[in-house]
Amino acid sequence: MTSSQPYRLRLPGPTPVPEQVRQAISQPVVNHRGPEFRAMYEQVQRLAKPIFGTESQIIALACSGTGAMEAALVNVLCPGERVLVAINGQFSERFAAIARALGAEVDVIEVPWGRAVDAADIENRVSKTHYRAVVVVHNESSTAITTPLEPIGALLRDRETIFVVDSVSGLAGTEIRQDEWGADIVVTASQKALMCPPGAALVSISEKARKLIALELRFPRFYFDFRKALASSEKFETPFTAPVTLVAGLKAALEMIHTEGLPAVLKRHGRLSSALRAGCVAIGLPAFGDRAAQSATVVAVEVPQNLNGADIVRLLYERHRTVIAGARNNRLTGKIIRFGTMGHIHEADILTDLEHLEDVLAALGHSFRRGNGVAAADAMLQNS
Ligand code: PLP
Repeated sequence: MTSSQPYRLRLPGPTPVPEQVRQAISQPVVNHRGPEFRAMYEQVQRLAKPIFGTESQIIALACSGTGAMEAALVNVLCPGERVLVAINGQFSERFAAIARALGAEVDVIEVPWGRAVDAADIENRVSKTHYRAVVVVHNESSTAITTPLEPIGALLRDRETIFVVDSVSGLAGTEIRQDEWGADIVVTASQKALMCPPGAALVSISEKARKLIALELRFPRFYFDFRKALASSEKFETPFTAPVTLVAGLKAALEMIHTEGLPAVLKRHGRLSSALRAGCVAIGLPAFGDRAAQSATVVAVEVPQNLNGADIVRLLYERHRTVIAGARNNRLTGKIIRFGTMGHIHEADILTDLEHLEDVLAALGHSFRRGNGVAAADAMLQNS
């Protein structure tokens, strides 16, 4: 590695921050209760709605995605209430851990990692037990698997149960139609397909969820009390000091998404992730998990048996300053590597990823035909 090589942030979040967003966040900080901030927050709410696919209110929180996950639970659950969490990876596991830490009664559906959550499994549980909330991770970043939300939302729409969705790594790179699909609370974070630095979360809240949130008896809540956030957001303010610069960044990022056009943005994510996967397969690294449920925003591929994923991750950085992720859990550590394909990325990024990956695999003694990965990805890009 030489210091002249560009630092290539190719993680499944945080993701590269485009120049327009960097400029927006470098502007002077404005009064968080003044007209300049209110105009920005209004725009963020307005521009985010079509991306969530909702007419409901969207609030910004000063926290990472995990804070928004916890915030969702403290506002809908109260001690002793039962929640069902479908676990198909590390982030859904985290959601269950948060619910347990709060003191909720937590039931889980264990889904094999690498598969999407099956609505039939949810139906089976909710038909027997009353749950206050069902929690699903839309896009499991740890396994690069996307779960179809629509059939789960359809099951819960006419029940009292609230459908809580983590789309931290899905939203803005994977289609989501919150209102049509019956999701009640959707949480996302700034540092993924929304192309901003980490530190802000957006949460959209349905009317059905608002009724529950309004109840006095929920888990103890103060900073994350959605009642306060919803009331303030009517005036385009936040109850406590807003992350002003991140809201400025979100506004710029959302404007970029609207300029490109949401359908084009989603299509770009699909094309690039498919091309990267095809390139990896061509050099002997098969895509991890169920073919039918592969994510458009994260690519996870299996590491050849004689290699360790950690060595690939390390050498990509040491030789090329290309920063990708391995797995940070007992089940998959060393066995898969993961690339982000979300946010501000383009064809050249994918082809460079493969060039660097081929170099590192060759250095580690993996046997494959040099150039095949780049060629397979290139061919897919030409034909899609
Ligand atoms: N959920 C998913 C699907 C994620 O990918 C992440 C982060 O990678 C989180 C939740 C947690 O978000 P954060 O790291 O911003 O707290």
